[in-house]
Amino acid sequence: MSALYLARPDLLALAGYSSARMEASGGRILLNANESPWPQDEHAPCNRYPDPQPARLRGLLADLYGVDAPQLLMGRGSDEMIDLLVRAFCRAGRDAILVQPPTFGMYAVCAGVQGAAVRSVPLARGDGFAPDFDAVLAAADACVRLVFVCAPNNPTGGMPSRERILALAQALQGRALVVVDEAYIEFADAPSLAAEVAARENLVVLRTLSKAHALAAARIGCLIGQADVVGLLRRIMAPYPLPAPCVDAAETALTPAALERTRSRVALVRGERERLREALAGTAGVREVLDSQANFLAVRFDDAGARYRQLLARGIVVRDVRRYPGLEDALRITVGSPAENASVLAALAQPVEAAA
Ligand code: PMP
Repeated sequence: MSALYLARPDLLALAGYSSARMEASGGRILLNANESPWPQDEHAPCNRYPDPQPARLRGLLADLYGVDAPQLLMGRGSDEMIDLLVRAFCRAGRDAILVQPPTFGMYAVCAGVQGAAVRSVPLARGDGFAPDFDAVLAAADACVRLVFVCAPNNPTGGMPSRERILALAQALQGRALVVVDEAYIEFADAPSLAAEVAARENLVVLRTLSKAHALAAARIGCLIGQADVVGLLRRIMAPYPLPAPCVDAAETALTPAALERTRSRVALVRGERERLREALAGTAGVREVLDSQANFLAVRFDDAGARYRQLLARGIVVRDVRRYPGLEDALRITVGSPAENASVLAALAQPVEAAA
């Protein structure tokens, strides 16, 4: 079985660009890619085009995520994977994606760029912003090609049940691809669904090195899907998506010592998240702090706008999420270092009138 029957039929016939480095990666004298023979910097040479999908990094990521290397597609953050999925599976003016707001805005933006429609099934506000999977299934009509599930969800921090996600994929088999965005999964109690992809043709999982692995500037993210989906997306992506210095940075972040440090930092952030949550819940002017399985907290205030300005006056920038449905009184605060979190609490302990 293959999920390619859900893809744009015109793309299935497209050969894709065959780059010089794809056609021949070895050799002693490289005169096939119109490059300069001289690097700018001998110690960090960048005169050659990089490997489109470097095998070493792919192997390290496959080990990290517990999947087979052919199930992985690496690119410029999980943002690029979202864009590629929408472009490959949605015909402009005909197909649709399904999102569950309040959620990550890029799903709808990518659909808009592609000319695809967006069906919205809001998270259940009275139920701690849990997904309404029955409503998702009911709304997944014949036009819906991709159903996005953000787990944990940005900006609420809630974690959908893995059993319900898998049941959704099962129910949508032959109808739509379920895209589980696990950008923040390292901070959650529940494990990743990456290992479930092998047995489900219509499930894909997105992972990133931007958050827990502290590599946001390197822009490395990946899609885990069955090999035919990976192959299709690879055909339509840019020929050399991964800059060599970013690949080096990712490989360094995946050494055993770096992974150990990442694990202890994740544990620290998880502890700080709970400390911050309790302290914020006891702060005057705070209405509610949503439970979070990510590295941020959505916080409702009596006057979120004034609180935003109060923090800004002290040089503290948080995310104003009041434009999201159901979060009209909320700010999203990333869990920082213990000192940064203490600064947030000290600022919010001041009466709001004291803001500059
Ligand atoms: N998914 C979610 C839910 C996010 O919050 C983000 C970043 N804000 C991304 C994907 C994109 O992350 P990146 O492109 O850095 O991998």
